[in-house]
Amino acid sequence: MLRWIMALVFFCIGWAVGAKPIICLDPGHPSEIGPGTRGKRITELEAVWLVAKELEPLLKKEGYTVVMTKKSMREKVTNKRRAEIANAAKADLMLRLHCDHAPGESGFATFFADRQGRDGKVTGPSKEVLQRVKPMASAFHRAWGEGLAGSLEDRGLRTEQKTAVGAKKGALVGSIHSKVPSILVEMAVLNNDGDDRFMASAAGRTKMARALLAGVKAALAADPAKR
Ligand SMILES: [Zn+2]
Repeated sequence: MLRWIMALVFFCIGWAVGAKPIICLDPGHPSEIGPGTRGKRITELEAVWLVAKELEPLLKKEGYTVVMTKKSMREKVTNKRRAEIANAAKADLMLRLHCDHAPGESGFATFFADRQGRDGKVTGPSKEVLQRVKPMASAFHRAWGEGLAGSLEDRGLRTEQKTAVGAKKGALVGSIHSKVPSILVEMAVLNNDGDDRFMASAAGRTKMARALLAGVKAALAADPAKR
């Protein structure tokens, strides 16, 4: 009898420890895609790294475990390897930070995989991950957008089909290889002068990091696998 009680106690402790969310934070570039885009005042590489380093302690303060895909700004990591880091960490969410180049556009956009893609011999993400990521991305975008209202335009919640790589492969390489829900954000359009100015300012990046934190919290709360 005692043995069963002890087993139950250990199971409950394990469950409680396991309940602490794990976030894989992925500042984009450099990768096989290249060094990223740039504005007049800040590069994408700098913008995503600085926001990631500001978001990391905010996530930890929430009690989340944070796993970064890079140790330094200029470290080159392929998109497949980034997904493998999230998989090894058994992340509850992989958040991929980018800035866009899109003539005539400005503002922030959220991307998620809405179907399986194929990269070499690998097909992914799984149907189970696809079911989870849709409501998570939707809740993420709403909360993130509330945090940025009045600062940047909302370019909307988009599927990865709307990206160049996604249109060819069905989903982004990072999603195809990911066994965990993955959300990619284009935080701003750096060829737009106002967006570039926002990302180049410390106040803008702080606002961005806080808005992303709200998005992560909303995404985790919307995960159908955790209900
Ligand atoms: Zn990028």
